[in-house]
Amino acid sequence: MARYIFITGGVVSSLGKGLASAALGALLQARGYSVRLRKLDPYLNVDPGTMSPFEHGEVFVTDDGAETDLDLGHYERFTGVAARKSDSVSSGRIYSTVLEKERRGDYLGKTIQVIPHVTNEIKDFLSVGSNEVDFMLCEIGGTVGDIEGLPFFEAIRQYSQDRDRGQCLFMHLTLLPYIKASGELKTKPTQHSVKELRSIGIAPDILVCRSEHQIPQKERDKLALFCNVRPGDVIAAYDLNSIYEAPLAYHRAGLDQAVLDAFHITPAPRPKLDRWEDVADRVYNPEGEVKVAIVGKYTQLEDAYKSIAEALTHGGMANRVKVKIEWVDAEIFDSEDPAPYLEGFHAILVPGGFGERGTEGKIKAAQFARERKVPYLGICLGMQMAVIEAARNVAGIKTAGSEEFDHESGKKRFEPVVYHLKEWVQGNYKVSRAVGDDKGGTMRLGAYDAVLQEGSKVAKVYGTTQIEERHRHRYEVDIKYREQLEKAGLCFSGMSPDGKLPEIVEWTDHPWFIGVQFHPELKSKPFEPHPLFADFVRAAIESSRLV
Ligand code: GLN
Repeated sequence: MARYIFITGGVVSSLGKGLASAALGALLQARGYSVRLRKLDPYLNVDPGTMSPFEHGEVFVTDDGAETDLDLGHYERFTGVAARKSDSVSSGRIYSTVLEKERRGDYLGKTIQVIPHVTNEIKDFLSVGSNEVDFMLCEIGGTVGDIEGLPFFEAIRQYSQDRDRGQCLFMHLTLLPYIKASGELKTKPTQHSVKELRSIGIAPDILVCRSEHQIPQKERDKLALFCNVRPGDVIAAYDLNSIYEAPLAYHRAGLDQAVLDAFHITPAPRPKLDRWEDVADRVYNPEGEVKVAIVGKYTQLEDAYKSIAEALTHGGMANRVKVKIEWVDAEIFDSEDPAPYLEGFHAILVPGGFGERGTEGKIKAAQFARERKVPYLGICLGMQMAVIEAARNVAGIKTAGSEEFDHESGKKRFEPVVYHLKEWVQGNYKVSRAVGDDKGGTMRLGAYDAVLQEGSKVAKVYGTTQIEERHRHRYEVDIKYREQLEKAGLCFSGMSPDGKLPEIVEWTDHPWFIGVQFHPELKSKPFEPHPLFADFVRAAIESSRLV
């Protein structure tokens, strides 16, 4: 049975709970343990799939096709453990399951209540796969005191009682605000937050305190006394220049030792931190810099492309350079020459996206990259835009477009080189979807195999012709245009195993122009940069030498 670590937050949101959880997971791995990380989100959406990236940041997709919170991306990047559907849950999902059961009559006519029915459902979620790992780290979204979060807090309280003594640990993350006028760090908000936790029956074992300033011993002692933890269990979390230093920083602060002590694991296995030392060295000591433009729609909120930004950083680490990302709003040059906005970048990336807005600008960005021989990586929508550009400007299909835009506008304006796919094969199953299906479930989601053409650029980049990548889209490039586009020079270098769905396109006479229907960024890790990103950055370095 796994030992459980529950991670909660107080005082304010956005303290980096997800990162702290991920870093702790990495540190436990460095001590030789196996881990799995989970996220419990109190909001009422059933999953983040239909939430706006402007509001919620990126939707992280798992191999088994779940649309989850971006914190699961942090977990994977730090631990390398592929997240599953069963690692993410929201109040919405819990309630809808409880209500389905009620409708089916599973509760035999009983009155359905938050305790025990909702809390039991949450506890069932916590227990899945608990025999598989040494430590299960469960992060509760939001902050203590949120109304929606209460059933989750109650469930983890009960869970620690249901298990043998000493099998569960509560770690609480708070903020110590700094008052400039008096030059002091304030502990009172943390005291209140812990009081709130204790009022619902949870006594934290470890306090992780975010602070912009060194925490003096006096304040640590005070926190320990008033919050009823040991002074050694008050862990300082200072701001870092790179998130990838977090495992080392938390180790220096004593977090992993405090956790093992709390579980009475003695002697604690010695940590092997070389992976993270190497990662930090690559982040902090780059030998050059390249400038990459991300031409997208959700550019005001960088979290909307979180995994892409991280994967580019990993690509930089693979080449020992810093990747300077600039966010360019595609809409600006929808009906203008993009050159003034794109000149000076060493590479251009067009990420995924939904809807027509900004797509003319993205098509122009693809054209600019093709004509000027600037390295281009098109991801999902970014690949579709590259295909439309090729069709319009090289293959002579002047009205080429995507059915997505016609669906949106309700008018038939384009020749659909990108069309809505209604039926496809996943493993041994056939999946069918209609345009008007439930919003949450109409996409090709999760891991699919692709076969790469021998001798193609991508096959060289990957070093293999068999790959598996994660998808999240409704529309596909129509195979019926393959011959025409290949004649124009756009090679279909990656296909689904049945040969029906184009997965990758590349310009043969371009130094580096690749479009992929999937999301490679989701599988990149700092200690294992994704080959496409590593090679894209390498190409950017080459193009920087030409400028
Ligand atoms: N909107 C496009 C589709 O649904 C692309 C999706 C994406 O980029 N993730 O196919």
